[in-house]
Amino acid sequence: MVWRTPQEIEEIKRRFLRHYPQARTELDYRNLYELLVAVILSAQCTDKRVNLITPKLFERYPDVASLARAERREVEELIRSCSFFKNKAKYLIEMAQMVMERYGGEIPGDERELMKLPGVGRKSAHVVMIEYFGKNLMAVDTHVFRVAHRLGLSDSKTPKGTEEDLVMAFRSDLPRLHQAMVLFGRYICTARTPKCSDCFLSDLCESDEKGE
Ligand code: SF4
Repeated sequence: MVWRTPQEIEEIKRRFLRHYPQARTELDYRNLYELLVAVILSAQCTDKRVNLITPKLFERYPDVASLARAERREVEELIRSCSFFKNKAKYLIEMAQMVMERYGGEIPGDERELMKLPGVGRKSAHVVMIEYFGKNLMAVDTHVFRVAHRLGLSDSKTPKGTEEDLVMAFRSDLPRLHQAMVLFGRYICTARTPKCSDCFLSDLCESDEKGE
């Protein structure tokens, strides 16, 4: 549930869009395949770390077809510095195999189809649709969840409920708002000691975690 007034929501939205006019993911990618792989790797892992891993991975496996034929051990070795690398290596290969078998080698541009792929949950599918296709969807990661709650835009206990609250509150410009909230949560409204003195929303924030 959102307890903000429509005017406050509009003001929060306006400020996010003004401060992050070109917000986009910090993951490096050149095409849909690379974005999907990077998003799968980024679960519980920083974008910085993923960007260190992917150049060698994409050199060895430049497309879905090559990844579908990969040896699991070899993929594990290449992504070893990523958290949960064993599971992720398995998911990456299974994802590529399913794309080859079920989708003729074309990664689907639809969030419901993406969610059928191994290693791709609701948040990851939405991130891909937002970033690559600009679809008007919200994706809730740890940053978006925290920011939405601190700003009184949701009181839901789950990412899906928070996503629904944000969609109902903002309605339009969701791709840019998603990216803006990720960057805002990563660099300003951080989990520990948020930088409230640098915050462009501090006059609208009534969070208990608000500091000086
Ligand atoms: S004032 Fe502090 S806690 Fe509130 S939104 Fe800004 S950074 Fe986050």
